[in-house]
Amino acid sequence: KKLAAKYNQLHISTGDLFRFNMKNNTPLGIEAKSYIEKGNLVPDEVTINMLKAKVNENPDVGGYIFDGFPRNITQAKALDNFLKEKGQSVSGLLALDVPDEELIKRLLERGKDSGRKDDQDEGIIANRIKVYNKETAPVFDFYKKQNRADKVLGVGSIENIFERLCSMIFWM
Ligand code: AMP
Repeated sequence: KKLAAKYNQLHISTGDLFRFNMKNNTPLGIEAKSYIEKGNLVPDEVTINMLKAKVNENPDVGGYIFDGFPRNITQAKALDNFLKEKGQSVSGLLALDVPDEELIKRLLERGKDSGRKDDQDEGIIANRIKVYNKETAPVFDFYKKQNRADKVLGVGSIENIFERLCSMIFWM
């Protein structure tokens, strides 16, 4: 959110979009719920269509910061094709690097008041980390091979991490 404000971009978080739909009991929310509550990925077709719709609804922005998307190689390729049709492309990917123990601590802490079931159960959190390593980590290599990816240390204060991210944006 801080990056989107500073660089005049639209922040699109697929997780937030799913949670909004779940809260409003839309057909999309009802479908996504069973996956999200187990810490699994929502099927690609549903996720990609939701993302495309959000971008298409907002054509006149300075750019997009995708948060939590793409989560696997299928989504990354779909995003590349989608942007290509518009004469656009992914400028870069920044991956926040945080040790698993710290992630578990933060998620459990957030779960105390976020109301998110997937933040309240260590088994679900462990599954999310497993899914990340298997499905999402390869997305970093996909963009890295094209010189479009970097890692940023995601440990420290929000302000510190924000400054680190900003210092990486110059090459994008
Ligand atoms: P997040 O808020 O990014 O942690 O996402 C919460 C949950 O929403 C994830 O554990 C997935 O179940 C689902 N989700 C969010 N983004 C995606 C995505 N790009 N592809 C598939 N599932 C997603």
